[in-house]
Amino acid sequence: MINKLTLIGVGLIGGSLVRALRRAQLVKEVIGVGRHVANLELAKGLGVIDDYETDPALAVIDADVVVLAVPLGAMKSIMQAIAPHLSVSTVLTDVGSAKGSVLADAKTVFNDRIENLVPGHPIAGTEKSGVEASFAELFQQRRVILTPHAAISATALGVVRQMWQACGAEVIEMSVEHHDEVLAATSHLPHMLAYALVDTLARMEDRKDIFDYAAGGFRDFTRIASSDPQMWHDITMANQTALVEVMKRFRTDLDQLITAIESNDSVFVQETFERAKKARDAFCDSK
Ligand code: NAP
Repeated sequence: MINKLTLIGVGLIGGSLVRALRRAQLVKEVIGVGRHVANLELAKGLGVIDDYETDPALAVIDADVVVLAVPLGAMKSIMQAIAPHLSVSTVLTDVGSAKGSVLADAKTVFNDRIENLVPGHPIAGTEKSGVEASFAELFQQRRVILTPHAAISATALGVVRQMWQACGAEVIEMSVEHHDEVLAATSHLPHMLAYALVDTLARMEDRKDIFDYAAGGFRDFTRIASSDPQMWHDITMANQTALVEVMKRFRTDLDQLITAIESNDSVFVQETFERAKKARDAFCDSK
């Protein structure tokens, strides 16, 4: 049982996490932290948090677990604010979508004393933001990746593992580097493509016709371009190296496809589509 959990960032992911922990009866008291009192009042009214603070330093005193569920760009300043107030037994974890930047921030702020830091990333979410979009079932049968580092305490790792399992998630472990490469390809690249596509079309002269006649395929493909721009700005800049590598690889493949279309290479075009359909059908059938 977690007696006191401090949730810094009471939004979609943090809100869903504590809703699920409450449902599993794994937490007694949840203190929320954010910049906007109206949002914290809303979260309190919804029964997501018991109380709140706007000063993260005050909120973490006596906490058993502190969860950082803010955009990646805010992680370091929050770590700096809470560092002097964490007890030696407080477990610190996060839900950020890139892990190398969180680990680097923590190493700097905590002077390498990071045994109680358990970096984590739930592979679940929606294009919506805010506590009003949170729900307890978000992590059911979804994966949560933990990226333990060399200095991690087995106790802290166990606490965070148990927390996510209580939310119905399958917990897996991966190195930070592998996590950032895999997520660059499977999540971050598709978001870049969706944002870039919608932005290109939105700047065309006949954009009104383009959007008027957009059908289901366009909606499916671009749903994720409705995700929060600030959050995706932060993810993009935090996972720069791995993301740029996979984007360049995609650009090469896209250039090849353009060349094949221009030169009427119908074999290349047909084979590309066949390969992609086979891969996607196999992926969807296995889910
Ligand atoms: P969200 O719904 O926008 O919630 C983030 C919350 O953080 C907001 O309620 C905001 O409240 C608070 N916040 C923002 N900046 C802050 C700051 N400087 N100091 C204190 N609080 C701050 O975002 P989310 O979707 O839950 O994402 C949170 C984290 O989860 C991100 O790191 C993201 O990478 C990760 N993640 C997201 C998804 C997804 O699909 N959405 C999936 C997996 C992981 P105030 O405005 O009141 O401060």
